[in-house]
Parts: sequence; structure tokens; C-alpha cells
Amino acid sequence: MTLRTIVTLPEPILRRKAKPVTKFDKNLQTLIDDMIETMRDAPGVGLAAPQVNVPEQLIVVEYSEEDEDEGIEGAEKITPAPKKLFVMINPEIVKASDEMVMGVEGCLSIPGLVGEVERHQALQLKGLNRHGKPMKLKVDGWLARIFQHEIDHVNGVLFTDRAKRVWKPEPDEEEDRV
Ligand code: ZN
Repeated sequence: MTLRTIVTLPEPILRRKAKPVTKFDKNLQTLIDDMIETMRDAPGVGLAAPQVNVPEQLIVVEYSEEDEDEGIEGAEKITPAPKKLFVMINPEIVKASDEMVMGVEGCLSIPGLVGEVERHQALQLKGLNRHGKPMKLKVDGWLARIFQHEIDHVNGVLFTDRAKRVWKPEPDEEEDRV
């Protein structure tokens, strides 16, 4: 596996709609493994292929639900749930909740900036797994947010397009980057 370079603004690929994946060959498997390694190394909780300069509709997400409780004051330190890894090809949002939630996001492709973004609280997704087999997924909460951020990436949309406001984070202000 190889670490890939994460491209940042103003790299034009971040603004282009990516192409659907049609070939599930060895090169694709290498790309997926490289993206997982690159996401973990960054570190980030999600990565889309255009962020490593590949104009294809492919995302990886790795997240532990327990991460959400970390900043809560007085919360007991519980053993974190194992992280769940998702690989989704040609992802599509089938259904999105009417309920919207606000949260603060950062992006590996936009260093030094975070923003407050409204996202659907829950989603139903469909796509293909790494071997080209159809897959369906129901996600909510922070995981749903990560998927919306990554699916935006394959459509050339960035969180700054949707943010109500953006700012430079304080050194101690850490957000999950995706
Ligand atoms: Zn991003």
C-alpha cells in the first residue's frame, strides 16, 4: 500500500463531478487500499477519490460511534466501539431525513478552515462494494454527516459551499476532518 497525496484547494479536480466506476480491476483494489491508508495516516474519518486526484466516484469512511461522546464533560471514559470501515462506490442518497442538524466540519482538502454546516440527520444510501456488488446502508448522526460530506466531494461540492459560517479554528479546537 502507498500513501497518496491529498490535494487541496484550489486544485480544480475538487470542483469537478467524478465519473462512475465501471471497472472493478486490480488497479481499483490498489486505489481503495491506498485511500484507506491515506485516510488513516492523515488522520481523517473519510476520504473521496477526487481528494487523491482520481476523478472517480469512490469514497472510504472509517468511524467509531463512540467518538461522538468524547468532548462531553463528565462523561465516563468508555471503551471506544471498534471503528467501522466503509468502502462505497458510485454512492447515491436514496432517502434523506427531513430533520436537519448543525455541526462543525473540517476538510482534509481545505486545511486551516472549519465551518458550521447543516446536514440531514439520517440517510439511506445505495452503491456498490469494492467487488461491484450492490450494497445498501442506513446511517444517522455523525456518520450520516461524513457520508454527505464525501458524496459532495464526488460531485465537486465542498463544505464551504454549504457552511453558514466558516472560521480558522483555535489550536485547541479539533474537528474530524474528511
Ligand atoms: Zn472533505
